[in-house]
Amino acid sequence: MSGSPVWHPFTQHALEPAMKRIVRTEDAYLIDEDGTRILDAISSWWVITHGHRHPAIMEAIRRAAESYDQVIFAEYTHAPAEELARGLIEIAPAGLEHVFYSDSGSTAVEVALKMALGYFHNIGAPRSRVSVMEHSYHGDTIGTMSVGERGVFNAAYEPFLFAVDRLPFPEAGREQQTLDAFEAFCASGQVAALIVEPLILGAGGMKIYPAVVLAELKRIAERHGTLLIADEVMTGWGRTGTLFACEQAGIAPDILCTSKGLTGGALPLAATLCTAEIFDAHLSTDRCRTFFHSSSYTANPIACAAAVANLAVWKAEPVGGRIESLAAKHRHHLQRFGADPRFANVRQTGTIAALDLCVPAEGYLSEVGPRLRAFFRERRLLIRPLGNVIYLMPPYCVADADLDRAYEAIDAAAAAFSGGRL
Ligand SMILES: *Cc1c(COP(=O)(O)O)cnc(C)c1O
Repeated sequence: MSGSPVWHPFTQHALEPAMKRIVRTEDAYLIDEDGTRILDAISSWWVITHGHRHPAIMEAIRRAAESYDQVIFAEYTHAPAEELARGLIEIAPAGLEHVFYSDSGSTAVEVALKMALGYFHNIGAPRSRVSVMEHSYHGDTIGTMSVGERGVFNAAYEPFLFAVDRLPFPEAGREQQTLDAFEAFCASGQVAALIVEPLILGAGGMKIYPAVVLAELKRIAERHGTLLIADEVMTGWGRTGTLFACEQAGIAPDILCTSKGLTGGALPLAATLCTAEIFDAHLSTDRCRTFFHSSSYTANPIACAAAVANLAVWKAEPVGGRIESLAAKHRHHLQRFGADPRFANVRQTGTIAALDLCVPAEGYLSEVGPRLRAFFRERRLLIRPLGNVIYLMPPYCVADADLDRAYEAIDAAAAAFSGGRL
C-alpha cells in the first residue's frame, strides 16, 4: 500500500499488509494481478448473489449504457425505474405498494426512518422514539449508526447519535424478554417504528433468531400503531432461503429496505418500499408534506436496468434450486462441527453458515480476526471473520469443490488457532 493515497474501508492501514490488486471477477472468484483465483466466500461483502458478472446482468448494463447515464429523477422518470418498481411490488410482501430509490443500504435505511417519522408528523400525531434490536447493524451514516449497536466502531461519534430504545437480542429461551421489552416501549405511544434485520443480524455477528419472534414483534407493533421497518439489505434476494426473510415469518413489514443483492451485486442501488398508508400521508396539496429526500444518483438508469435483469434471472433460472442446494451443502458440512469443542454456536440460515471459534479473546477486535483472515488469504479464500465468528456466505454458483475447500480451511484454522474453551 505504500504510496497509495487510497483510504480503504474498515482497514487499519498501519497493520494491514500490502493489498493485491484485483484485475477481474468471474463466477465465485476474484482474480488478482498475479492471476491467483481467490474464492469470494463472502460474496464481496454480501452483494454478489448469483455469481460475479452474471452474463444477463452485464448485458443489460451494456445495453442501458447505450441510452442512459444519470437522469434527474424529479420532473422526469424512465423505463428501467418504472419497470423495476412494478417488478419489486410484484415479488415483495403484500401491502408494499410504493418504491423510493436511493443508492446504498445506509441510505435505504435513512429513507425508511424518515418515512416513518414523516408519516406520524404528517398525520398530526408525531412520535419521537425508534426501537431497535441489540447487536443490530443498519449502516455507517450517523442516522444508521444511531439505530445500530454502539461500540468501538462509533465511539468517536457517540455525542452525535440519537437515542433509541434497545430490545435485548432474543436469545434461545429468552425470546419473551425481547417481546416484553418491546411491548413496554410501545406503551409510551411514542414509538414510531421498530427497525430490525429479519431472522439474522449480520454485521453484529451472524446472530440468528426464530421467525416466530419476528411475527410476534409485528403483532405487537400493529397493536400500538408502530411501524415495522424490515432492513432486508443483507437478508434479501435469497440469502436466508426465501426471496425475502420476512416471508418465513409470514409477515409484511410497513417499510422494507433492499440493496446489496438488488442488482445481483453488479452496481450500487437501493430501494425502500412502503405501504400506501405511508405514501398517502405524504400526498397533499400542501407542499410541506412532500417527502424531502433525494440522492444525486437516485434511480440511476443503468443500475435500475441491472436490477430489472436480476429480476428476470430470478424468473428464468432455477435460483431457488441453487439456494436450496447450497443450504443443503452447508448443513452437511456444519454437521461435522456441531459436536466439535473448538467451535460454539454452529448455525445456519439458508445460504449463510456461521460458527464461533473458541479462542481466549473473543469479540470483533480480538487479534484472531486478522490472523484468521491472513490464514484464509494464504489459501486463496476470501473469508473475513467478525472477530472469532467465522461465516461463509458465497455466491449461489459456488462449486462443491470450492465449498469443500472452504470448510477444510476452517477446520485447519481451528487446529492452528483454537485455544480451547475458557
Ligand atoms: C450492509 C448493510 C447495510 C448498509 O448497506 P451499505 O450499502 O453498506 O450502506 C444496512 N443494513 C444491513 C442489514 C446491512 O447488512
